[in-house]
Amino acid sequence: ASHTAAAATPTVVREALFRQAGITATRSILELVDTAALLHVQPLPAPRGAVAVVSNAGGIGILAADACADAGLLLPELPEIPELSGELQKLLPRGASVRNPVDTTAAVGPTELACCLEALERCPAVDALLVCLVPTALTTDPAHDPVRALLEGPGRRRIPIVAVLPDQEVPVRYLNGADGHPLPVYADTASAARALAHARDRARWLAEPAGEEADAPGCDARTARSLVNGFLATTPEGGWLDPVSTADLLESYGLPLTTSVWARDEHAAVVAAETLRPLGHDGRVVVKAYWPGQVHKSEAGAVRVGLRADSEIRSSYREFAAAFGTRMAGVVVQPMAAPGLELLAGVAQDRVFGPLVVLGMGGTATDVLDDRSARLAPLTEPDLTGMITELRGAPLLSGHHGAPPVDLAAVRSVLARLSRLATDLPELVEADLNPVIAGPAGAVCVDARVRLEPRPSFDPYLRRLRRPAVAEEA
Ligand code: ADP
Ligand code: MG
Repeated sequence: ASHTAAAATPTVVREALFRQAGITATRSILELVDTAALLHVQPLPAPRGAVAVVSNAGGIGILAADACADAGLLLPELPEIPELSGELQKLLPRGASVRNPVDTTAAVGPTELACCLEALERCPAVDALLVCLVPTALTTDPAHDPVRALLEGPGRRRIPIVAVLPDQEVPVRYLNGADGHPLPVYADTASAARALAHARDRARWLAEPAGEEADAPGCDARTARSLVNGFLATTPEGGWLDPVSTADLLESYGLPLTTSVWARDEHAAVVAAETLRPLGHDGRVVVKAYWPGQVHKSEAGAVRVGLRADSEIRSSYREFAAAFGTRMAGVVVQPMAAPGLELLAGVAQDRVFGPLVVLGMGGTATDVLDDRSARLAPLTEPDLTGMITELRGAPLLSGHHGAPPVDLAAVRSVLARLSRLATDLPELVEADLNPVIAGPAGAVCVDARVRLEPRPSFDPYLRRLRRPAVAEEA
């Protein structure tokens, strides 16, 4: 029912767990075999994962370059290294392109191709080689077939090498190099690129520092625990907290909630607005109708923002009362937050793996934007960085189109505190802070929902699985 829970589908939880535990997850059996074939026989690339594509025909080279881009691999521009492009130009037939993808033209012979691969292997800008060879009129002469460059060259090099031979009948197989070491050969460029991307991800994971748990000073675990126990004593089956208890619980962990004043009638709403106006942006307040169990307020017409005059407060209250009737328990009055970027931050508990922290582009357009990142708690400092930079909308946080950058320390603090809270309280099955309005001077949450359920503590062995492992050779 809440945005965080909707985002925390089993797939999101699994992907977060796999990424953190260093598991290579594939989406099909063929992708599994393709990837295993590479990891089994070739070294891992450097974590940067810069690929040089070499082909004897322009078309397949472009397809391979596109497949690399789709898989998130980097294709460095080779002309930036003048010695290398000079060397390649000397080696390769006239008309060859020495940019990346390198197009040797169909006129290339096995000897020139072998020298070209050696030059690229030595180049510090290149972390992996992807060689695509198509049959041409010239390859019918066995002496001239460029595939011989793979058979007569080493199968094991400084960097991983894979080949694509689109005319082969099986999706993936091994060719043995002159040293007897196998190199994987794929029928399809996308298979080769995806396998390389998995190898690059593995190298990145191994290179990641283990990372300390993110700091969240001043959390009051005792207050939070007694709030939870108190709620579950009166509501043993669990449920949503009311706005006041929600604020108490989140504030005990230093989460930045806006001031909310609860008003049961029209007069109380006007009085509340009076005290909150000076705190509001442009002297304005927000009024929201509240009833137990409500989910998306603005969708139901229960949110009025940017109110100033008493008459606006009164008419909003009356309209709410007319629309929602006796269902409405009262209204919540808040100061209007300064304009900023609306983010979603939340927690969801997975029955098996425990608490998951979610960050996303938020506000009322959350589902449309569908831009989220997730990690299993407890979060480390590198997790916080990863969650922020992984968002497609990440440039909006660092100041897009002249907008001032968002206070990232404030966003990190929200995530670190949610992680602590979810780790300390297994009963916190759902927390949804949407939006957290983030601006240059901090972040403030104007809408929070929390659901508690009786839950035993987490399985300590599953928590161990998530801890970053010691780096080792793949
Ligand atoms: P819901 O998510 O249940 O529809 P919200 O309380 O999140 O209701 O309000 C919807 C939108 O109204 C928010 O995404 C935000 O744009 C705006 N809004 C709500 N409260 C405030 C506030 N105090 N200051 C500024 N904008 C607000
Ligand atoms: Mg909301």
